[in-house]
Amino acid sequence: MDLANKTALVTGGSRGIGKAIVFELAAAGANVVFTYVSSDEKAREIEEIGKTNGQTIFGFKADAGDFAAAEACMQFVLEKFGRIDILVNNAGITKDNLLLRMSEQEFDSVIQANLKSVFNYTKHAMKPMLSQRSGSIINISSVVGINGNPGQANYVASKAGVIGFTKSVAKEVASRSLRVNAIAPGFIGTDMTDKLNEKQKEAIISLIPLKRIGDAEDIAKTVLFLASDYSKYITGQTITVDGGMVM
Ligand code: NAP
Repeated sequence: MDLANKTALVTGGSRGIGKAIVFELAAAGANVVFTYVSSDEKAREIEEIGKTNGQTIFGFKADAGDFAAAEACMQFVLEKFGRIDILVNNAGITKDNLLLRMSEQEFDSVIQANLKSVFNYTKHAMKPMLSQRSGSIINISSVVGINGNPGQANYVASKAGVIGFTKSVAKEVASRSLRVNAIAPGFIGTDMTDKLNEKQKEAIISLIPLKRIGDAEDIAKTVLFLASDYSKYITGQTITVDGGMVM
């Protein structure tokens, strides 16, 4: 899948799934800008690895929930590369609690980082994509956004919101050949899921027909497919990548 001369922006690319997406898109030839919120050192390391591999990768520090910062990031992308072809809205956090105990701050901060962020970046990427009459937007949701999960009402609301947002925007921009899709990962091994103990992980694996926790690369490969012309007749969809957990 050749992404030479394409420009990609990935939110939350300093660790986990986002980092794997950055390297996957760069390996396919795209120029990649990724955002992060606190991992300065990790961001510089990723840029260095890119340089060593002859790839163009830039880290940009920006809170994904901040509308003005998203605009500044998009300006950076356009000044550097003159276009935006692929937007991956990946940045996300969890602040789990049963609703009875969930604070307003826990609810608001998760909605801000996981859902408002998708609005922020999609809004700023849409104009240049519409005038190019091409572009692929890929939003990272979650299987729990489809099925629900106790203790995650804030997170699930944000991820279900991402699926609804994806379908609505896909319908708005399809006539200009822009595609908007979502991916719903299942249980993927990253810092986010490392919080669970071995017993909890075993219980989850017992629910996965393919009998393993997913790798960040499993998601990155699906992003590559949705970013490329191999998926040019696919829009408004949510692709579940979960080892068969939800079917
Ligand atoms: P992770 O390992 O915790 O990494 C999160 C990434 O997002 C980091 O690069 C982090 O940057 C960045 N980030 C967090 N808040 C941000 C903000 N406000 N602005 C900009 N960047 C921000 O998480 P992950 O497991 O890779 O998850 C990535 C996405 O997949 C999330 O949307 C998550 O909800 C979704 N997902 C994950 C799983 C799973 O099993 N892991 C399953 C379903 C869906 P810093 O390094 O600077 O903190």
